[in-house]
Amino acid sequence: MTAPTKTDSPLRAFDAHHPPSAEIIDKCVHCGFCLPVCPTYVLWNEEMDSPRGRIYLMKLASEGAAAMSPQWVSHFDTCLGCMACMTACPSGVDYGKLIEATRAQIERNHPRSLGEKLHRRFLFAVFTRPDRLRFLRWPLLAYQKSGMQALVRGLGLLRLFPKQLQAMEMLMPKLQARDRIPEVTPAQSAKRQRVGLLLGCVQREFLSQVNAATVRVLSAEGCEVVAPKEQLCCGALMVHAGEENGALESARKMIEVFERANVDMIVTNAAGCGSNVKEYGHLLRDDPKYADRAKVFAGKCKDISEVLTALEPRAKRNPLPMRVAFHDSCHLQHAQGVRTQPRQLLSGIPGVELAEIPESAICCGSAGIYNLVQPNAANALGDRKAQLIFPLNAEVVATGNPGCFLQLQSSLARAGQAVPVVHTIQILDASIQGEPLSR
Ligand code: SF4
Ligand code: SF4
Repeated sequence: MTAPTKTDSPLRAFDAHHPPSAEIIDKCVHCGFCLPVCPTYVLWNEEMDSPRGRIYLMKLASEGAAAMSPQWVSHFDTCLGCMACMTACPSGVDYGKLIEATRAQIERNHPRSLGEKLHRRFLFAVFTRPDRLRFLRWPLLAYQKSGMQALVRGLGLLRLFPKQLQAMEMLMPKLQARDRIPEVTPAQSAKRQRVGLLLGCVQREFLSQVNAATVRVLSAEGCEVVAPKEQLCCGALMVHAGEENGALESARKMIEVFERANVDMIVTNAAGCGSNVKEYGHLLRDDPKYADRAKVFAGKCKDISEVLTALEPRAKRNPLPMRVAFHDSCHLQHAQGVRTQPRQLLSGIPGVELAEIPESAICCGSAGIYNLVQPNAANALGDRKAQLIFPLNAEVVATGNPGCFLQLQSSLARAGQAVPVVHTIQILDASIQGEPLSR
């Protein structure tokens, strides 16, 4: 990408490289239907922290009537990118494209403080690199197994550390032995299709049991599963945070890896990654070498719940009597429009009783790196969600995204509620295997 240039008014905030689309901005008729589902508006009741307010700020900046001041930027930094406003909007305003373009503009044109820069650099250097996350497992395992974590938490020592570090510690999952995912897993019965599996970064290293369950279920349902070892990060965290160059590079590499794998379909089980890879066609639209390949790649991507509900079930579902509260991940329900499929999978298991969490349209506060860079807002949203889950008397909470998994686990623990959180596919896997759900 060549360095973009700024034009016209001295207040002009955006450079010429894909500013937020005026056409999309003008579709907003200011009706306010999106306000009640916007988590930041729900928290603070501030117009400029609502979708309508943010679109207005984009319009002002586009027209040269507002500069990219720290305050202007703060309203976009607090946006979770949850896309609840898109689902609610009757005028079809594609806020996702607007916020993605705005964030990329901010990262290019707004000078962040040294502290912010270093923090963001650290997050991207670690959370988008499975090799580095794997290396981190050892000190973290030692921290948990030695009893140090229990001591630090018990004595309240975390309060002595910066908020960002506290947030990271609280989100850390209980580490288990890492499940190894074979590069190719054969179908257990006559092969119906050859599918590729996107392993994710955090999920691969810290929640590998979810990938292992996904492979077992797909194989039991007649799919040959290919999980290329050389796949890296899909770029989701970078896209959602405005780091365009890193995201483009990740997308190109991912496309190359899965072209070599020669699969009929690419399965995602992390909603944040899924919503990103489905948009590769848009992300790589300017790249003559990759634009068409990106569209083909994106067209093959499906969430695990979409793949399984499209197949006639082959594997027997054994009874699993339990009450399950299902949490809709924003990147599944709003960004991918997948709401009924996970419920359908769970309802197909004898004995499973589904409980709906009120305010299901509203984000739990996870949102990529949001809970690491905006811990106060994220905690407030997590606490709100935990209070809504508690009265449901569920034995387990199911969700389809590792970010929500970690956020809910941490929020429920903070509220003193010992309700385990699992991925939806782990419940289906336990039923097919005829084993108790491991929590
Ligand atoms: S993406 Fe979410 S947080 Fe951002 S404006 Fe829309 S509803 Fe609000
Ligand atoms: S619902 Fe849509 S049109 Fe109405 S204010 Fe929100 S974004 Fe604008």
